[in-house]
Amino acid sequence: MIPEEGDILKKIRKNNTREKEIVQAIKKKDGLAWEEDKVVYMEGRVYIPNNKDLKEEILREHHDPADVRHPGQYRMQELIKRTYWWPGLKEDVKKYVQGCVKCQQNKVQYQRKAGELHPLEIPERPWQDISIDMIGPLPSSNGMDAIVVIVDRFTKMIRLKAMTTNISSEGIAKVHRDEIWKIHGVSKMILSD
Ligand SMILES: [Zn+2]
Repeated sequence: MIPEEGDILKKIRKNNTREKEIVQAIKKKDGLAWEEDKVVYMEGRVYIPNNKDLKEEILREHHDPADVRHPGQYRMQELIKRTYWWPGLKEDVKKYVQGCVKCQQNKVQYQRKAGELHPLEIPERPWQDISIDMIGPLPSSNGMDAIVVIVDRFTKMIRLKAMTTNISSEGIAKVHRDEIWKIHGVSKMILSD
């Protein structure tokens, strides 16, 4: 969201700290830079004077608000340049994004997530690695309305067990213990949802 235009323009008028290159650009009178009511326009964009607070306000308004959603440096630069410009804008935008705690946290979390994603290890023996799924609700039979499907990833063998859909995680653990652990020994359990 672009901040209150009038507010920014008022602040610009109070600031007369212009870089040499801006003063020279206006003097050229080539139609690319001009001054209007104490505001300088550079190729149609509002020039932001060399003032740290003013620049920071523009940067913040084009990055932090909920509806702007923390754009990356290229997108953010594009958003600002729709209205404003100043020398070194690109570097300032880059520094701002790199200095944004939220953006850096997201980056770390994203990298961590990507690092954790590794293919399932290949099991070496039967019933070492199993998956447990539940199918249901099914038409009730003897009070049971679901089936627990246990698949051994090594042999692809399947064991089925009648269940009720409201089974708890303890119930699932009990099935695992009775159906797999007692018969086949310790196994890694992968619960599907
Ligand atoms: Zn951010």
